[in-house]
Amino acid sequence: MAAVYLDYNATAPVRPQVIEAVARTMSTVGNPSSIHGPGRKAKNLVEKAREQVAALVGARARDVIFTSGGTEANNQALASAAHRPTFISPIEHDSVLGAAPTAATLRVDSDGLLDLDYLETCLKNSEPALVSVMAANNETGVVQPLSQIADLVHEHSGLFHCDGVQAAGKMPFNKQDWGVDLLSLSSHKFGGPQGVGALILGPGTECPSLLKGGGQERSRRAGTENVAGIVGFGLAAEIALNELSEFQKLETFKDKLEQGLKNLSNSLLIFSEHAPRTVNTTCFSWPVMAAEKLLIQLDLASMAVSSGSACSSGKVKSSHVLSAMGVGADLAGSAIRISIGWDTKPEDIDQFLEAFGKIVDRNNRKVSSETN
Ligand code: PLP
Repeated sequence: MAAVYLDYNATAPVRPQVIEAVARTMSTVGNPSSIHGPGRKAKNLVEKAREQVAALVGARARDVIFTSGGTEANNQALASAAHRPTFISPIEHDSVLGAAPTAATLRVDSDGLLDLDYLETCLKNSEPALVSVMAANNETGVVQPLSQIADLVHEHSGLFHCDGVQAAGKMPFNKQDWGVDLLSLSSHKFGGPQGVGALILGPGTECPSLLKGGGQERSRRAGTENVAGIVGFGLAAEIALNELSEFQKLETFKDKLEQGLKNLSNSLLIFSEHAPRTVNTTCFSWPVMAAEKLLIQLDLASMAVSSGSACSSGKVKSSHVLSAMGVGADLAGSAIRISIGWDTKPEDIDQFLEAFGKIVDRNNRKVSSETN
């Protein structure tokens, strides 16, 4: 059986039109910093992609800095405000947590939503700060109240950095209207190539280059641009924007999946079930089986999903996101994430439920034979 791919939050399949555009770009020569014709042509391709990426999130093209991905964008955003006190949510991606080791940690509730009262208390007792809170969580899909967070941060003269990696292309996003000062994006989460992303600034926000070298990206990111990757990123952003309302229809797939899962086992729990979530993410725990074991059984049935936390290294480690939500070790240890996207078909959900149903049946038979 062909694998059913349900791990879009780890990486989404690249759109066929994007593959074509990347290949076409790679077959032409030109460094965007060169003054001659091929160089100017490469520069034009980069500038077109800058417009496409800006349009996806309601930003100005001139504020887009292309990076090697979401990780670098997050690192650069946090480094740019290293002189300020920094507050980060406890459910951030490792690329935020690792880039701000001395930051103070905010709080989330049992759904993973930011505690706004606590944020306000922190800001009242601080010098103007940098606050970093992601838009949508990679494990649970929970979407934060971004405008409210931005208002609080700005009332206290702070800067708001938002990791929008799991939100862009999956839900309407307007950086300007929502008051996000620094926004991180990654191309490979919505159908673009891996290894390319962006940090998008607000008007007047300074952001020195992390890398030392040439004056590319208006001296905000040294190094020859990944032209083919950037072209693919731009096209994927344009397609994602055009298909945003289509993407919202995935909610019916998610509802079917979650209802189906609950029908299969009474003990199954869906994290943040009633909180605002992206339409593509379901994180659940079936406490009967550890995540590692369930992942292997699903893999044997050609189902590509991930454990709640294994986004980075393929390792199954305990989830800091679920732990910040107050989820106990046994529930967190059996958390599985299913994430769908542009190429998911209704049959994929049916096949997953069938495969999972067989595992549940097998387990039930084993338990009853052991107790008899
Ligand atoms: N931020 C979030 C929320 C993510 O889920 C990821 C990737 O999983 C990243 C940042 C890192 O992005 P990249 O893989 O482009 O470095």
